[in-house]
Amino acid sequence: MTGDCIFCKIIRGEIPSVKIYEDENVVAFLDIYPINPGHTLVVPKRHVEYLHELKDDEAAALINAVKKLAPRIVEAMGADGYNVVTNNGRAAGQVIFHVHFHIVPRFEDDKCRF
Ligand code: 5GP
Ligand code: ZN
Repeated sequence: MTGDCIFCKIIRGEIPSVKIYEDENVVAFLDIYPINPGHTLVVPKRHVEYLHELKDDEAAALINAVKKLAPRIVEAMGADGYNVVTNNGRAAGQVIFHVHFHIVPRFEDDKCRF
């Protein structure tokens, strides 16, 4: 539900977040429990639970934002690489049911498991 959704509240500015990017379709903000420094979430502004429910143009906007942001985050964090992950469904580890991509900066030998 859009009304109760934490990410919709972040998008509307009702819950504080550290936003690092916004355009007409997409918002990106830092994960509140980062698994590595610079861990970022990229979300569509329209409330959609799962990746496969996005319209093609919405999916394109989302992945284009990920593509644009990932190297900038890597450079800003002095990282060596990055993971891009989207969890869909409780069994897959999804906790917030507003589709999102995780961008996780990776550092040589950081032992991070995602
Ligand atoms: P999921 O497991 O659904 O793929 O990931 C949800 C992510 O949202 C988690 O990494 C979690 O730390 C993050 N998260 C949960 N609540 C909040 C919040 O209120 N603010 C921010 N910035 N991130 C959140
Ligand atoms: Zn939502």
